[in-house]
Amino acid sequence: MLPAALEALTEQSVRVGNASSLHTSGRAARAVVEESRERIASVLGARPSEVVFTSGGTEADNLAVKGTYAAQHAADPARTRLVVSAIEHHAVLDPVEFLVAQGACVSWLAPDRCGHVAVDDLRETLATGADDVALVSVMWANNEVGTVQPVAELAAVAHDHGLAFHTDAVQAVAHLPVRFEESGADLMTVSGHKVGGPLGVGALLVRRDARLVPLAHGGGQERQVRSGTLDVPGIRALAVALEATVAMRDVEAKRVMMLRDRLVEGALGLGLGITVSGCWTSGDATRRLPGNAHLVVPGCEGDSLLYLLDAAGVECSTGSACQAGVPQPSHVLLAMGLSEPEARGALRLSLGHTSTETDVDAFLAALPAVVERARRAGGLL
Ligand code: PLP
Repeated sequence: MLPAALEALTEQSVRVGNASSLHTSGRAARAVVEESRERIASVLGARPSEVVFTSGGTEADNLAVKGTYAAQHAADPARTRLVVSAIEHHAVLDPVEFLVAQGACVSWLAPDRCGHVAVDDLRETLATGADDVALVSVMWANNEVGTVQPVAELAAVAHDHGLAFHTDAVQAVAHLPVRFEESGADLMTVSGHKVGGPLGVGALLVRRDARLVPLAHGGGQERQVRSGTLDVPGIRALAVALEATVAMRDVEAKRVMMLRDRLVEGALGLGLGITVSGCWTSGDATRRLPGNAHLVVPGCEGDSLLYLLDAAGVECSTGSACQAGVPQPSHVLLAMGLSEPEARGALRLSLGHTSTETDVDAFLAALPAVVERARRAGGLL
């Protein structure tokens, strides 16, 4: 967490008061919530009334997908289709699969080898008929390979057909100029812990005219679409973190991009056959998130690399998901056309506001021995 966010969280945590209560402490808590809402709306280019607080990105994505589907389907039972990119985070993917199990159908937008979703692809998908579509959802930036999608163009195509458009901007907000109104999206997800704020708090930005059915029923605290006592300390800390992150975004994105390039160039130069996934151009942070480095190490299991690197003090992720104890290659990499063996050797390194050149150099120094041991473990040496 950013120090200012941590301070705001701590300060607010010792105050009494439910933001829905009418007594003095309750009204003070409500004032904190409403002021935070205004600050968040301002930095994200939205109206305060469009900010619906949630328990994080997962809840916001679920509300966007399931809530919109339920509302659209109730208004017109013919709307049973979702149009979704194949590289979404599980917080979008799994609600979609849930709806499919209930009878919905889905058109997946396949990315290219770089992980980009083509606007023409969406146009073609909708050209054959869009009267059965309830929602189009494409993430702003991918969490595994960092590719940035043409959100405004995609939203415009959805609107040409009168369709609601959702974008998961969890990964984008810290490093890209994300403005809700300008993006054209009807719904947009953000999460606290990707912007230097606390875990377990986030928001769904919802245009005033978007139709949503709530997921959970109760006090109806947030525009009647989200119930639950508001997490006042988390909300205040989210606002403080977002403001600080956006204020330093341009400078920080450049600094982190230079670290990413140092890491990728260093890894490619080790002579280990390593490749970089997605689109990577040194000095570019518009098509790929500046803080995302994603490598494929041939002949290795990502999990072996992860544990060996962890032992060397480098914490990274593989992108694979475990199902019933068996590591599954990432759906993102498979959708981009990587083979299963390639996808199994994936290594994702994320750089953020605490990362330094020393961190990158420590990783590069540890990598050759780690790769050799991982290959040995896999019987490839
Ligand atoms: N969407 C994306 C793209 C993410 O990267 C994440 C988390 O890493 C989420 C959604 C889920 O957000 P949360 O962890 O706040 O539930």
